[in-house]
Amino acid sequence: MRLTEDTYNHQGLRRQLVQSIHAKGITDDRVLDAMLAVPRHFFLDSAFDKRAYEDKAFPIGEGQTISQPYTVAYQSQLLEVKPFMKVLEIGTGSAYQAVVLAEMGVQVFTIERQRKLFDNNKKFDFLKKYKFLKTFYGDGYDGLPTYGPFDRVIITAAAPEIPQKLIEQLKPGGMMVIPLGAGDLQQMMRITKLENGSLKEEVFDYFSFVPMIYGKNN
Ligand code: SAH
Repeated sequence: MRLTEDTYNHQGLRRQLVQSIHAKGITDDRVLDAMLAVPRHFFLDSAFDKRAYEDKAFPIGEGQTISQPYTVAYQSQLLEVKPFMKVLEIGTGSAYQAVVLAEMGVQVFTIERQRKLFDNNKKFDFLKKYKFLKTFYGDGYDGLPTYGPFDRVIITAAAPEIPQKLIEQLKPGGMMVIPLGAGDLQQMMRITKLENGSLKEEVFDYFSFVPMIYGKNN
């Protein structure tokens, strides 16, 4: 069961969470403001109500997790979005990251490979508030060629390699933020597709994500 009421208590806990994320080094006000606006407890089962504003990942079913708030903030900051950009997300999961981006004023196209998680989001009324957020069921490795090219691509599962089709679906000047690595830890990378088509790679901190898996699951 989901909660749909955003109480003063939730808002207070959320403010503390956002302050702690700021203290951990996230300085982009647009990211912090978006996270202040999004009731994370809506994205979890009511059993997690008391813990929704801890800076932790939690289970969302099908062996998957909602990302830790710090990780959501970190990836959102690296993505350097501007309003109205087209952003492709791989790994919708709870849809929390997708809504944080939508709150920042971009158009979000998000893909999930787990049928059940995709179906849950179709029934998640809160998402209807975001007219420029579209959810898709499919294999993120294929991207969404008919909706591209994209200004930004964000991958929210551990990618064992850089998905070539997603690089192809990036606009020149576009950026991809991707946690890369097949082991327990992944290094956050930002890949910029330069105007001449060559790739610039920047490396950042280590994180731990659930794996990005090939194919879709019914
Ligand atoms: N962005 C999510 C994080 C969910 S965890 C959130 O904010 O909650 C990562 C998600 O990626 C999982 O739901 C998993 O099923 C999904 N995933 C893994 N491999 C994928 C693929 N190839 N295509 C699409 N989704 C994938």
